[in-house]
Amino acid sequence: AAATASNAAAFEVRRHEAPLPVAERNAALADLRFGTQFTDHMARMQWVNGEGWGDRRVVPYGPLQLDPAAAVLHYAQEIFEGLKAYRWADGSVHLFRPEANAQRFNKSAHRLALPQLPVEDFIGSIEALVAVDEPWVPGTEESSLYLRPYMFASEAFLGVRPAHVIDYLLIASPVGPYFPGGIKPVSIWVAQGFHRAGPGGTGDAKCGGNYAASLLPQQQAIEAGCQQVLFLDAKEGRFLEELGGMNVFVVRRDGTIETPRLTGTILEGITRSSVIQQLEDDGRKVIEKDITLDEVRTGVESGDIAEVFACGTAAVVTPVGRLASPDFDVTINDGVAGTVTMGIRQRLTDIQYGRDEDTYGWMR
Ligand code: PMP
Repeated sequence: AAATASNAAAFEVRRHEAPLPVAERNAALADLRFGTQFTDHMARMQWVNGEGWGDRRVVPYGPLQLDPAAAVLHYAQEIFEGLKAYRWADGSVHLFRPEANAQRFNKSAHRLALPQLPVEDFIGSIEALVAVDEPWVPGTEESSLYLRPYMFASEAFLGVRPAHVIDYLLIASPVGPYFPGGIKPVSIWVAQGFHRAGPGGTGDAKCGGNYAASLLPQQQAIEAGCQQVLFLDAKEGRFLEELGGMNVFVVRRDGTIETPRLTGTILEGITRSSVIQQLEDDGRKVIEKDITLDEVRTGVESGDIAEVFACGTAAVVTPVGRLASPDFDVTINDGVAGTVTMGIRQRLTDIQYGRDEDTYGWMR
């Protein structure tokens, strides 16, 4: 595919006067966690009503100055994205489908009454920052540079209306394998009485408010001995939607794969769409449909459902080994990672890390 244009050259770079010393950076890169360490710089832009986007800069990473009346702190007019830059064996650095993140960002922006951001600015900010902080892209196995673009209402105004001043920021965090010590199937708690999103709400937008609403059920999942929470639809409370930060798939014994269809209440994951495309190209049948919790529970019990997996940028493809709620507790595939799950994980990461030919044109 022809690469989308990039506005990277428009970003004025002001380098950090005291970046982290190389020895400390290398120590940080040798001990990676998720989202605790940040690179020396960040990219930013500002939008002013009537003037559009301007002030494109790469500046030293550091605290923001924000008016206490900034609208985002009161009404949560904010959206974000998450994607990764991967270092290949030859040392080169590649982004996975950044155009897809740019498009989803604009979809989220529309729902939150935030301004559209031209795709070339979104990609440009990423290319400008990754160029400056390139030494921060780790090269160890299963590691990457996690990129977090976000946009928020910075105008000092307490009226409830779309803000007239919007800040865009991009920060970057080197991350290691999501599961140090190997892939272990996760246990999932089915949220009862709490829903992530309802019809007409913001479920298919990537806005901070969705995640705020997921924290209490997520806390209950942890208390119940599970790592992640699965949300059911708000209308009938019967259908699988997604996890707090991942989409979900089930694999039938006959090899058919199913995933909840996009109803407007779940996030359209870029990993989800990539996995669907690869599975179909491998000759598998993938059905996007309404899936009830009841059929998953009985399917797991009868063995008709052989595998369940979750997928998203952070953990790529993750096997689910257990599904629990106050009234049931089922183990999937004896709590062992299944072959379809591990196969699709391998297939996708081979492209991301340049071990396999990128026939899709996904890497940039
Ligand atoms: N659902 C939710 C709620 C998420 O936060 C994410 C992570 N962005 C996903 C699904 C997976 O999306 P992606 O594959 O684009 O990371």
